[in-house]
Amino acid sequence: MVVWMILNENSPITFKDTLPREVDVVVIGAGIIGISIAYFLGKQGKKVLVCEKGRVAGEQSSRNWGWVRQQGRHSSELPIMKESLRIWQGLAEEIGEDLGFRQCGCLYLAETDAMEQENEDWLDIAREHSLDTKSLSGREVQSLLGQKDKYWKSAIYTASDGRAEPSIAVPRLARAAQRLGVKIIENCAVRSLDVVAGKLSGVHTELGRVEAKQVVSAAGAWSSLFAGHHNIALPQLRVKGTVARTEPVADFFQGNAASENIAFRRRTDGGYSIALADQSSHSIIPDSFRYLPKFLPLLKKSYRDVSLKFDRSFFKEIGYRAKKNPTVVSPFERNRVLSPKPDQSMLKQMRENLRTHVPELANAAFVESWAGMIETTPDVLPIVSEADHIKGFYMVSGLSGHGFGIGPGMGKVVADLICGRPMEYDLSRFKLDRFHDGSPIKLGMSA
Ligand SMILES: Cc1cc2nc3c(=O)[nH]c(=O)nc-3n(C[C@H](O)[C@H](O)[C@H](O)COP(=O)(O)OP(=O)(O)OC[C@H]3O[C@@H](n4cnc5c(N)ncnc54)[C@H](O)[C@@H]3O)c2cc1C
Repeated sequence: MVVWMILNENSPITFKDTLPREVDVVVIGAGIIGISIAYFLGKQGKKVLVCEKGRVAGEQSSRNWGWVRQQGRHSSELPIMKESLRIWQGLAEEIGEDLGFRQCGCLYLAETDAMEQENEDWLDIAREHSLDTKSLSGREVQSLLGQKDKYWKSAIYTASDGRAEPSIAVPRLARAAQRLGVKIIENCAVRSLDVVAGKLSGVHTELGRVEAKQVVSAAGAWSSLFAGHHNIALPQLRVKGTVARTEPVADFFQGNAASENIAFRRRTDGGYSIALADQSSHSIIPDSFRYLPKFLPLLKKSYRDVSLKFDRSFFKEIGYRAKKNPTVVSPFERNRVLSPKPDQSMLKQMRENLRTHVPELANAAFVESWAGMIETTPDVLPIVSEADHIKGFYMVSGLSGHGFGIGPGMGKVVADLICGRPMEYDLSRFKLDRFHDGSPIKLGMSA
């Protein structure tokens, strides 16, 4: 049986290739995005090095809910997401290892008229992209979930959506990338790019310098800081989400389900992953003020879902932005793995909401709980951009709480972009410039 293990600083170091002197592409960060990019670059015969300051999938990529969903996405992401789903379908066979991927559907449950309307509105996008999403009545939901009572007014359901096991999927894909010749090194922070007179020639890592003409930052929650050291303003903030997993229990629904109050997902170890949908907290840091104007529209829409906190993080991050000499220890290696503490009040609330809405899980013990820092952009859409003033430096981040499912598709698209292959997808919506060209922030949120 596959067991979910959250990866953190205490997890053993398992990726320890030797630092090459020169490669074609350096990838910064070994989450689902960095590893997927490296895998597809490896398939195209590129010499690739992935540098990870902590552990492969140590941050968001092993801590997420594991949903692989098209449902609820913004229209601009759906073409890549559909490609991603196609990749997930064949990936385990291609690499010869189970990634926990199962196509068991995704359910958005409505308890209120407002939620029902939001769900229904999204059906137009589903039709536009020829998805198999359909609406279900309260009775149909009750029967799909096999519940004795009717708890939900209605739902939308996409049967082709899936789930996978984040903490095994990413390291296994990383091993497959290694088999293609990709070098991966944990505990190897990239301190800075090596740029002379605007020309990129490689990176400075904590283990030494590596030459490369192309570098991709897939640094997740650290992307803004890394870009900032090179005078690139990448607006990004973090919110903390808390998750729990239950002991193995009788199966009543194989897929992913979320309402305004509770989210649950069947796991391959026989338990369920549980969370409060849309509930998170934000610790105020200097970047909160730096990027506040750009985040105002998002804050206006979601202020009820995010609790603001003022804690040690503020003081810890003062000075992070100061440019450092690459021979000096950087904030990246001082924070090997972002591993915040789960929020106890949220865990309590989850238990209560299970009691009132999902009696099948009311008594299932939580055997593990954790938290993850979700990085988000002001419009909740990714950034996929080459830096204007540093040719060959690409930024792929801001996956904004839904980057796990789209990860393999995004990896393939970015690998094609880097290799200069014809681009089948429209990436214009994901350009970093959208935050700096004076245009208003258009929220990329949907149901
Ligand atoms: C609680 C939670 C629930 C979520 N649920 C879902 C879900 O159900 N479905 C979904 O699709 N998405 C979900 N997400 C979002 C998803 O997990 C992320 O969008 C995705 O994992 C982002 O991947 P990434 O590779 O960009 O970032 P990360 O996984 O954060 O990886 C970035 C890596 O870069 C490394 N790094 C940073 N700076 C440096 C440096 N200078 N040198 C070397 N290494 C560096 C970091 O250590 C880190 O390992 C969820 C996220 C959370 C936290």
